[in-house]
Amino acid sequence: MAGALLWRGPAPPLSARPNMAAAGGGRRALLPLPVPLPVPLPLLLPVLLPVLLAAAAAARLYRPGHDPLTVLTAGSVRPALLNSSTAWVVQFYSSSCGHCIAFAPTWRALAGDVKDWEPAIRLGVLDCGEEENYESCKEYGIHFYPTFRYFKAFTKQFTTGENYQAGADREPQTVRQKMIDFLQNHSQEVRPPACPPLDPVWSSDITSLFDKNSHHYTAIVFESNSSYLGREVILDLSQYENLVVRRALNSDKAFLEKLGVPSVPSCYLIHPNGSHGLINNLKPLRSFFSSYLKSLPGVRKKLLLPLQLPAQEDKEEGTETKVWKEFDKSKLYMADLESGLHFLLRVELATHKTLEGAELKTFKDFVTISAKLFPGRQPVVKLLETLQEWLVSLPLDKIPYDAILDLVNNKMRISGISLTKKVQWVGCQGSRPELRGYSCSLWKLFHTLTVQAALRPKALINTGLEDNPQVVLQVMRRYIQHFFGCKACAQHFEEMAKESMDSVKTLDRAVLWLWEKHNVVNNRLAGDLTEDPKFPKVQWPTPDICPACHEEIKGLHSWNEEQVLQFLKSHYNSDNILYKYTESQTDSSDPEQGDTREGKDKNLLKNPGGNRENKLQDKENSVDSGFKGLEKPRGNPGAVQGSGKNSVASVNLREVRQAVSFLGIGFSNIDMSLCVILYVASSLFLMIMYFFFRMRSKRWKVKYYRPAV
Ligand SMILES: Cc1cc2nc3c(=O)[nH]c(=O)nc-3n(C[C@H](O)[C@H](O)[C@H](O)COP(=O)(O)OP(=O)(O)OC[C@H]3O[C@@H](n4cnc5c(N)ncnc54)[C@H](O)[C@@H]3O)c2cc1C
Repeated sequence: MAGALLWRGPAPPLSARPNMAAAGGGRRALLPLPVPLPVPLPLLLPVLLPVLLAAAAAARLYRPGHDPLTVLTAGSVRPALLNSSTAWVVQFYSSSCGHCIAFAPTWRALAGDVKDWEPAIRLGVLDCGEEENYESCKEYGIHFYPTFRYFKAFTKQFTTGENYQAGADREPQTVRQKMIDFLQNHSQEVRPPACPPLDPVWSSDITSLFDKNSHHYTAIVFESNSSYLGREVILDLSQYENLVVRRALNSDKAFLEKLGVPSVPSCYLIHPNGSHGLINNLKPLRSFFSSYLKSLPGVRKKLLLPLQLPAQEDKEEGTETKVWKEFDKSKLYMADLESGLHFLLRVELATHKTLEGAELKTFKDFVTISAKLFPGRQPVVKLLETLQEWLVSLPLDKIPYDAILDLVNNKMRISGISLTKKVQWVGCQGSRPELRGYSCSLWKLFHTLTVQAALRPKALINTGLEDNPQVVLQVMRRYIQHFFGCKACAQHFEEMAKESMDSVKTLDRAVLWLWEKHNVVNNRLAGDLTEDPKFPKVQWPTPDICPACHEEIKGLHSWNEEQVLQFLKSHYNSDNILYKYTESQTDSSDPEQGDTREGKDKNLLKNPGGNRENKLQDKENSVDSGFKGLEKPRGNPGAVQGSGKNSVASVNLREVRQAVSFLGIGFSNIDMSLCVILYVASSLFLMIMYFFFRMRSKRWKVKYYRPAV
């Protein structure tokens, strides 16, 4: 069944499931920790290495060499698709997308099913969730996962391929038929040479073969016009020698009667000696026809050279292993939130070349609520604030994504803004790389934002988004609709939003609405293929982390919503965030603490000049300090330096460094000032010239004035 049909019904009741809710603390490493070995390690390596390699390989959704399809990479995708002697169907997927995981067995099965078609049309996959493939997926304009694209043979120039027909299901049979249609859409010149003729033959063509010697069998599949069976059998046998398969339609009834073909589909066989007859004992199924024909005496598979792909570093076989990070499931990890933001801004958004209309509005609002509510470290908050100010100040209704990326990557080298460039899942790490990760962090991010909005109701004042209790939910709803790579997830979330989001009248209700809907999703996905066996989908928070949230009324489980709200407000509060495993925190003296917006607010309360002084300190750090400023605690008096001349110089320096990116071009304040000066100077010059010539012409008129006679 297709991935889309793999949805599971409601999960068994909570009581019937093992209570392993997101058990993070105390989890063991993915690979066993080193233990004292009685045998020296070098001697054990030959034994251990295959095990390690197998573990690493098993972690991937598709494995080159194991799965009957081509696993493409950033290095191999273009050369493989360009000027290829075969057509291609490529699935662009993300290893963290639930639907891709659910669909993988179907795609693998399909690949096995059409393995014999490879010389004509191949199946490939490219993992857009792999960092090294981000750029390629962007080039191919992949917005959602999984995305299926067809690529014709012998394309001379780069093409993003043809989309799999919208709305069509992804059942293997449907995809197979689309592959055939696609092959038949090739013009004669670019048709894959290994693709046998797929058009029907006429009765005259068939009779001309009777009673003549030949060096091969000819099988004719009689079928109706709408049937694909004949073409499937032709492709199944395309790699076999001593046999030619053709198809004929059942339109010439008299001919069929003459041959004794009572019904279609049927298979008629002409032997090498010219004798012929209907194959009677076959069920009218592709598999029966194909395997019968393959078993004919003398019919065997041709020896073909495998298609050469550019040599690629096989990461599957590499020894890349992720070490399990111990974590406390009752805590929120900044590494998850920052990694999620990084993925969202640099990967998910990158699939859109330009943002305009509803997408741009959604992105602006997302950045605004994040800038105001994200309880992050100062460099990240500053980055979000700078992005927000820039977006608000731009009078454009279309922004190229690259301009946004330049700012996110701090191309203008503004002091003290930064966001990690790699993913580091902690509370969102999965027991296999394709599980959990980004979608987990996105949930956490939006829960955090709803809670922050409820805790700081004035935070959105003067943004145009204030006074709306649904604000975070609405932004999330639009974000999921426009940008979230998992299309089916977005559809489902939209249904829930349509149904009840309007009923949310307070910021507290918004927190509870998201909690409730997340539990609906958990319930639906419990036991699904996308579920991480180490992190079963349970109704959350589980009794072990919030006993007060659970009650029993007349023997039935019930939530105490007041307690749940209280719990959510403390779980997704900045006080509950740990900074362990965040970038540049690894060697910090206190890895559990970070320099946050709230920390900054508290400092400001204590010392109203603190923020300014901190800014001055930023300037004294190098221009691209990144997170370096964090290495010194904010409270350190040594960090509060600079006054008078120095401060002014620093402020100027900072201003010079600040720049506005416009369509990807950086304009500094100096650039802007020069423009204004030039503008004023040229206006003055024009005015002076104007008055000069006017005066001259007046004088000239007076001098040469001759009254008319
Ligand atoms: C908006 C959205 C819709 C999605 N829809 C689908 C879908 O239709 N089909 C599909 O296959 N996948 C869907 N996904 C992905 C799926 O929900 C999970 O994110 C993914 O399977 C990873 O699961 P996980 O085990 O990390 O836990 P997640 O469900 O991602 O939860 C992450 C963390 O949030 C906390 N949490 C759990 N439940 C709650 C709650 N009720 N309230 C507050 N915090 C909670 C826990 O700490 C948990 O570890 C969706 C994701 C999003 C963001």
